[in-house]
Amino acid sequence: MVNGMRIGQGFDAHSFETGSRLVLGGVEIPHNQGLKAHSDGDVLIHALCDALLGAAGLGDIGQHFPDSDSAYADIDSRVLLRRVVELLFSTGWQLVNTDLTAVAQRPKLAPHIGAMRQHLAEDLRVTPGRVNIKATTTEGMGFTGRGEGIAAFAIVLLEEYQVE
Ligand code: MG
Repeated sequence: MVNGMRIGQGFDAHSFETGSRLVLGGVEIPHNQGLKAHSDGDVLIHALCDALLGAAGLGDIGQHFPDSDSAYADIDSRVLLRRVVELLFSTGWQLVNTDLTAVAQRPKLAPHIGAMRQHLAEDLRVTPGRVNIKATTTEGMGFTGRGEGIAAFAIVLLEEYQVE
């Protein structure tokens, strides 16, 4: 029997601000600016959560974790990701794979990709081989190119979880 499959996509962008930490893919990256957000501003995890929720037909991250709720102030986005994964399991879905792209002119993200994959795979309960993360610049063009912020794209494939 072929399991049911669903695809989902997510996008997010946050602007830089001075005086906050830069956290991407669950990894703190040394930089002179962090991302402005109600949570820790982990734009990569936010795009991933939206893709997961989208594939499962469960809306978006803002509906589940509203930024008007003080419970989510400065929250570690990995906590949100784990809650989304719980929700997927409880509704019968598991991850096949995800492919993520972070768009940033700076800082250089390549040295941190391995650690991001490890963290996200752990939270998604899959092997790191199912979690691909890419980083690109926009060659100086647009808001990311001007160094105003970081954007992220996510695509996921889910399959129906078969209870024996
Ligand atoms: Mg966000």
